[in-house]
Amino acid sequence: MSLVLADILAAARTIRGVAVRTPLVPSPHLSALAGQDFLLKLETTQPIGAFKLRGAANAILNLPASVAGVTCCSTGNHGRGVAYAARARGLRAVVCMSSLVPQAKVDGIRAIGAEVRIVGRSQDEAHAESRRIAAEDGFVEISPFDDPHVIAGQGTIGLELMQDRPDLDMVLVPLSGGGLAAGVALAVKTIKPSARVIGVSMDRGAAMDASIRAGRPVEVEEVASLADSLGGGIGLDNRLSFPLCRDLLDDVVLVTEAEIYRALQTLFYEDRMVAEGACVVGIAALQAGKLPAIKGPIATIITGRNVDMAVFHRIMGGQDVALGDLTLEGRAYAP
Ligand SMILES: *Cc1c(COP(=O)(O)O)cnc(C)c1O
Repeated sequence: MSLVLADILAAARTIRGVAVRTPLVPSPHLSALAGQDFLLKLETTQPIGAFKLRGAANAILNLPASVAGVTCCSTGNHGRGVAYAARARGLRAVVCMSSLVPQAKVDGIRAIGAEVRIVGRSQDEAHAESRRIAAEDGFVEISPFDDPHVIAGQGTIGLELMQDRPDLDMVLVPLSGGGLAAGVALAVKTIKPSARVIGVSMDRGAAMDASIRAGRPVEVEEVASLADSLGGGIGLDNRLSFPLCRDLLDDVVLVTEAEIYRALQTLFYEDRMVAEGACVVGIAALQAGKLPAIKGPIATIITGRNVDMAVFHRIMGGQDVALGDLTLEGRAYAP
């Protein structure tokens, strides 16, 4: 199966009324640094606080009326998106999580109206349960990134970017499983082949980057990161997001935890915005001088705002942050 721009145009019609068209705003500070307009696509303004609603809504609204419900095993933004889109469609949603997931995340997904099932002590055990529910109870499992409707839904961001700023020369996309980057790259490069689409990940545990280098999906060790929404694998049986990212992305840039820390401070102190570590990897790449030659306007996607506020406060205060067995040294913000 191959995805085309028409699938993204169809997704834009399908998700209207569930996901919102988000604003694209300039950052004066980052524009001065880049020497070109630097624009922020605010997916933080989606009703669940993250872009994942677009893909989940497109997948769920395209299901036949006969399904019993939907299921997934995400603890983060995908779980929220599935819960919200299922409610909009009047479908049952069961989100499976391990017993290690913090209570606040469980409560957040329950509050949107999904049933949360706590199973086992690992993400793998939770995933086995969502697969069982799909196989035995007539539920449909919604993949966070390796699904044509999910990719087309995330691609509506690329469509909106090119509608708002046809002069964009570069788009910086936070990259994990690659559903977002695949959809955005497909839209942007079909509309404007000369525009460059760059994936950005943290430098430890970047599964898509390692897979593109290896020429096939590979596993990487998962480590704690400020960009926690970018963790996890791409699936060894990946069918869609891997080949699309491999073929369409111009480059993948990796940033350090210290660079992410500083970029979070920049977005807060300069643009007065609260966002997750995953959102600022594009800003971090600009600040670290890691981008290819800048020749025109740049946009990055501020993908979500569902950040742990205790950690966020520490970073804004310039304090140290614990990341697994590593301590990231704090530093007060200085422009
Ligand atoms: C899921 C997610 C991403 C990465 O999207 P992929 O499609 O997995 O590459 C980036 N930022 C946030 C906030 C996310 O939730």
